[in-house]
Amino acid sequence: MWERYFDNAATTPVDPRVLDEMLPYLRDDFGNANSIHGFGQRAMAAVDLARERVSNLIGAEDPGQIVFTSGATEANNWVISAFSNGAISPFEHSAVREPALRKGMKLLANDDFVLFPPTETLELISVMCVNNEIGTTWNAADFRSYATHIHSDMTQQLGKTPILLDGIDYASFSSHKAYGPKGVGALYFETAPPYPFQIGGEQEHGYRAGTLNVPGIVGFGAACAIAADEQEQNFHHAARLRSVLLEELGNGGRWQINGEGAPGVPHILSISFDGIEGETLVVEADQAGFAISAGAACSSRSTEPSHVLTALGFEESRLRGTVRISFGKFNSVDSVTELAKTLRHSVEKLRRMM
Ligand code: PMP
Repeated sequence: MWERYFDNAATTPVDPRVLDEMLPYLRDDFGNANSIHGFGQRAMAAVDLARERVSNLIGAEDPGQIVFTSGATEANNWVISAFSNGAISPFEHSAVREPALRKGMKLLANDDFVLFPPTETLELISVMCVNNEIGTTWNAADFRSYATHIHSDMTQQLGKTPILLDGIDYASFSSHKAYGPKGVGALYFETAPPYPFQIGGEQEHGYRAGTLNVPGIVGFGAACAIAADEQEQNFHHAARLRSVLLEELGNGGRWQINGEGAPGVPHILSISFDGIEGETLVVEADQAGFAISAGAACSSRSTEPSHVLTALGFEESRLRGTVRISFGKFNSVDSVTELAKTLRHSVEKLRRMM
């Protein structure tokens, strides 16, 4: 069933090994991690292990530099809410873009994929590591000398390629893009979080109040431990699936890869088919049992064109004809070959109907 799921940038299935590690904390060891009795201590020990596993995968110096959150959206909002004089890249996910624009932050100028630094020194610059729509990569630390604080949304990088935290003050992560459960993520900080975001109890050293989501955190940690062992192999697998898909699509099909030529990860492939509505192709693929997407899942119900593709200066028809195919470890060469066939037939059919 997961073989035909090609929307891994929207979310990934929970790895069965992750689920196995979570179940005891939903059933028997249900304690509140901040209670001092045995139930609480067992829960806290599991949270400590998870913090070490996340810290190990992202290469933090100390597990204490991680605060668990409800996901990357919360981690992004946390950082952005602490600053006013800032700038973000025009390619950010809406979980950075929307809060930043509301705070009056500016967009960094760009020429194609190349980002230009601001002309004055700012309090904050936020640049994502891997773009969720086209898979293109940037290094936020390149902007170190232009801002007193650097934030990077590393949601789409976790479990894909090794993470570099040099020159980064804050980074956001999410479990459900790396075969962990939804509703849990983390904020990494170099020296301290911007300020306590949720105020209440003393959890997470007072930085983030609220009873810990122990099963979710355990699952996040388990997913990170698995990724530490398997991400390299998964990277090669994604690269192979991508090249099989492109080979099977063949030349002459009037399609263009978005982001070609720019540094990027193989897991996310954005293709524009000339004269096709991306959404219609998504529906056609769905009818054949494949899940792909017309853009970011968080905005796929919106009729607005993608701000990422718009920032790249694409024409209206290219924006409309775009689909995103995001590969994962449960996809196979057979399923990607089938997907390519389905896309080829659907595109031909849709073009004949025009
Ligand atoms: N940033 C990026 C780049 C994402 O792809 C996503 C998920 N769509 C998020 C942030 C939001 O993450 P979460 O679902 O954990 O809130």
